[in-house]
Amino acid sequence: MPPFEQNYWLTTVEMPRPPAEPLPAAVDVAVIGAGFTGLSAARALARRGAKVAVLEAHTVGWGASSRNGGMVLTGLKLGVNKLITMYGRERTERMYAASLASIDCVERIVREEKIDCDFVRCGHLEVACKQKHFAGFARQAEVIAREFNHELRIVPRNELQDEIGSAIYYGGMVDEVSAALNPARYVAGLATAAMNAGAQIFEKTRVVDLARAARQGTPGWQVTTARGPLWARDIFVGTSGYTTKATFGLQKKIIPIGSYIIATEILSEAQARELSPRNRMIYDSKNYIHYYRLTPDRRMLFGGRAAFFPETENSVRRSAEILRREMIEVYPQLRDAKIEYVWGGTLDFAFDIMPHAGQMDGIYFALGYAGHGVAMATYQGAKMAELIAGEEPDNPFVDIPFPGTPLGLYKGKPWFLPLAGAWYKFLDWVG
Ligand SMILES: Cc1cc2nc3c(=O)[nH]c(=O)nc-3n(C[C@H](O)[C@H](O)[C@H](O)COP(=O)(O)OP(=O)(O)OC[C@H]3O[C@@H](n4cnc5c(N)ncnc54)[C@H](O)[C@@H]3O)c2cc1C
Repeated sequence: MPPFEQNYWLTTVEMPRPPAEPLPAAVDVAVIGAGFTGLSAARALARRGAKVAVLEAHTVGWGASSRNGGMVLTGLKLGVNKLITMYGRERTERMYAASLASIDCVERIVREEKIDCDFVRCGHLEVACKQKHFAGFARQAEVIAREFNHELRIVPRNELQDEIGSAIYYGGMVDEVSAALNPARYVAGLATAAMNAGAQIFEKTRVVDLARAARQGTPGWQVTTARGPLWARDIFVGTSGYTTKATFGLQKKIIPIGSYIIATEILSEAQARELSPRNRMIYDSKNYIHYYRLTPDRRMLFGGRAAFFPETENSVRRSAEILRREMIEVYPQLRDAKIEYVWGGTLDFAFDIMPHAGQMDGIYFALGYAGHGVAMATYQGAKMAELIAGEEPDNPFVDIPFPGTPLGLYKGKPWFLPLAGAWYKFLDWVG
């Protein structure tokens, strides 16, 4: 086991260090959070001529954006049948189209900004942990082809060895449109792109309070930060699973959930090819999900919700052991592979497991990506920038109902997570 927590992706990049300048007195837009959401918005706003300050409590990409699996995925966390029940066919079609457009959005930014982040359209593979999950794949693929004109390929069990070197699954479903990237390099590139467009990024600048305040007759916000005050005409919040009480209205609608990843030593070419012959982004069909992929330098990167709570030194250490055991269940071939890295990060789940964007109490926001945020966060940042700039973008996630806890009991401290974890494990056992 690795002696301490280390995020493998961060060993592959030098993060940009924005100059530690004094805060400006006033900006058009204060963006809270320097991850995919905030930086994508900052880039798009600055390109439209807005004066933008990105305020980040830690450093560029410190949150989930540098810690994730780098899977640039089509679709949403919820299946399309459920979405149609919740939102009707027309809005679901727009949501599905947005999920496809979000991959194009990442690809376009990577190309335009020449971000060296190993972006590749390698496709994703979802594997079925039970026979009935596999039957569900076929039903989903049929609806998606018929209603949304998008092809998913069903892979029966006896053909699965062309896709994955594991014998434990009942079949799979491939979407060739999904992609892979190195998230730390991508978020570093987004930060540089935002700064090149004219946005300023302020690290170690935690926002602690927001209060409505007019300036020279213009309505706006007095922003109190750990490094002093500034005024902003508009606020855009991109704080995902790390949302704090500075935006309490959002905090109490988001459940922060820990997710953890291990990475092995570098594998031989033959072994890497055996584990993932087509180099797909892979995840399974459970609630207590596993997701895994090869890194560009041929490590197996294996992630899951090994503990439900957001990351601490203790949960990271325990997760390393749990994930190694689970990885060997999938790939017994990796029994002797050394684990060289382990780290954790925090995901943002809304109570309806949907992304949400729009305005709350006059503040713009986008969050709730539920583990599908690499593409969607980038996309929502860009779309929300258009909205803030006074354009009229189509964004099917704006203004959908945004539920809180049924009884309003949750005040932002997720006391129920152990129960949720046990519940998901139970559902996987019976489901
Ligand atoms: C382990 C892990 C694996 C994942 N794997 C995938 C994957 O393979 N594919 C996928 O699509 N998604 C994945 N995700 C989800 C994805 O990483 C996130 O959805 C995405 O990075 C969210 O980006 P963001 O910019 O909204 O938030 P973040 O990157 O989390 O950034 C939020 C930032 O806000 C800052 N902040 C918070 N409060 C304040 C404040 N008051 N003042 C100033 N700054 C503040 C934080 O310091 C943080 O840097 C994964 C997530 C984790 C944790």
